[in-house]
Amino acid sequence: MKHLRDRMSLRQQTALLAGLLCVLTAAAVALTAAMLARREAVREAEASLQSLARTMADRLDQHMFERYREMTNIAELAPLRTIWRGDAAEVRSVLAQVQESLPEYAWIGFATPDGTVRAATRGMLEGVSVAQRPWFIHGLRGTTVEDVHDAKLLDKLLRTSPDEAPFRFVDIAVPVFDAAGVPAGVVGAHLSWRWADEVRETVLADHRAGLRPELLVLSRDGEALIGPASTGLQMQLAAMQAAGPETAGPAPAQHADGVTFVDGSGREAMLTAVVPTRGLGSYPGLGWQVIARSPVDTALAPANRLFFAILLAGAFAAVAAALLANILADRAMRPLERLSRNIDLIGRGGEASGVAWQRGSRDVLHISSAIRSLLRRIGHAEDAERQARAAAADAEERVAEATRRAAEHRARLEDVSELRRLADTDPLSGLLNRRGFVPLGAAAMERYAATGEGAGVLMIDIDHFKRVNDGHGHAAGDRVIRAVAALIPSEVREEDHVARFGGEEFIVLLGGADEGTALVTAERVRQRIAATPIRVEGALLEITASIGVAAIAPGDRDFEDVVQRADGALYAAKSRGRNAAVLYGAARAGSAVA
Ligand code: GH3
Ligand code: MG
Ligand code: MG
Repeated sequence: MKHLRDRMSLRQQTALLAGLLCVLTAAAVALTAAMLARREAVREAEASLQSLARTMADRLDQHMFERYREMTNIAELAPLRTIWRGDAAEVRSVLAQVQESLPEYAWIGFATPDGTVRAATRGMLEGVSVAQRPWFIHGLRGTTVEDVHDAKLLDKLLRTSPDEAPFRFVDIAVPVFDAAGVPAGVVGAHLSWRWADEVRETVLADHRAGLRPELLVLSRDGEALIGPASTGLQMQLAAMQAAGPETAGPAPAQHADGVTFVDGSGREAMLTAVVPTRGLGSYPGLGWQVIARSPVDTALAPANRLFFAILLAGAFAAVAAALLANILADRAMRPLERLSRNIDLIGRGGEASGVAWQRGSRDVLHISSAIRSLLRRIGHAEDAERQARAAAADAEERVAEATRRAAEHRARLEDVSELRRLADTDPLSGLLNRRGFVPLGAAAMERYAATGEGAGVLMIDIDHFKRVNDGHGHAAGDRVIRAVAALIPSEVREEDHVARFGGEEFIVLLGGADEGTALVTAERVRQRIAATPIRVEGALLEITASIGVAAIAPGDRDFEDVVQRADGALYAAKSRGRNAAVLYGAARAGSAVA
């Protein structure tokens, strides 16, 4: 791991880390969202089946309630009380009127207390005994509803062809009383169960397509009343009722008025909603269970589609985010790479003697500024050492010379001072070089420590100097350096020191100047350079320079501190678009360094 880390660049590590983070975040978010969405969609499918079953149950209850009320009306309406003991034809005509109001009344009859049918619609079963039929037995005691059963006595009479399905009935029976309030018998109605099928068709037709639902009705005992018998389902419901919904196999979901579960007993797994009928008004209900169900594959298809769509979107987002993270990491690390390449070139010949400011982040800017300062300090140290060595060699030589040629002693001394002057001079510009300048800076610091007299520093750098070299050649560049070098001293006092600090950079030491004075001087120098076109190879070049300004301040450790501030201000001047003089600190708002 350690080796791998050393082999990977910071950029790759950052990109990898950020990419990994993006992928993990996106994956977690997408998975959670997909699971929530799927759960919601499942819930919706369940609720849809629940509401379908509830509609069906309510319609059944509503319908039964209406028939129940019609029959109780017959028993309770005062004008009817007189007819039960009277003419059978009159009773038959009343019953026929009720039957005509609704086609599903298959038979309505009136039986006397001994169980003999006295009058019936279309005269069917008149004279026959119904004393053993449950509706009659219960009807004598009070209003009763008998659950769905096959037609017995009436089947042969009602069937129009042998192919017709056997008749099934729901019975409603009410006791009737004569005008004196004495029980006169029982009126019983057989409702053809086919209406329930029609109710189912209407309910299904009203339901929105999509779930391909199926509706079943089971009796209280689990017998199939409507729809195909489904033994597995019936057994499962029975088991659930016996064990209570919590312990039953398929872990049913409880809803407001029923349960939903997945029934795996058939060929196809079914999402199944079970809702009980409740009765309505005076009609007590028969405890039917209405079942709406739909193949799980169909019911949950939208849920599954949603799940995978969200996962897919999450995957895309993750990849996009990872790519973006990669690009950002790449951009963030590029200045650092440039800086390290730049540093690597120092001291290998060519023109790379320092580092350029690297922008891109505070840290990188800070590192490049620190390295610039470091290189200058190393330069100073080397200069000092060289100076010391030169001085030693010089002294030796002088001693030798003095012993050898005492007569020429005086002349020699003059030569030595000329040599020293040459060593401190930049041959191109004739200004001081860095070696000549450094002791002046140190002296200014000593003066400041001793007397408090300050000094200002101008760091001057010709703008876009590379263009001069690139466009007109190195010799033209040299001429420009010379021309600028000649301009600077003319704008400062005689006692100020101007030096070429390297390349196309100059430094000025303004003895006794504070920041304000130094800035005014810098501005004068800048204007002078900008206003003086320089003739090279017959062309007139408009040259500008940027100037960083600083002054000795309390707390400075050495002169290099002042130079570093001036260098920072110079950077700020470059950043502002060049051809500007900027005081250190005045640019703080615009730059991290100055
Ligand atoms: P900027 O405005 O940012 O200062 O742009 P610039 O082109 O001046 O950029 P930079 O300071 O990085 O370039 C200085 C160039 O000066 C690099 C080198 O090619 C050239 N140079 C350095 N010393 C000499 C020299 O003695 N003579 C000539 N002709 N060119 C030099
Ligand atoms: Mg430069
Ligand atoms: Mg420059």
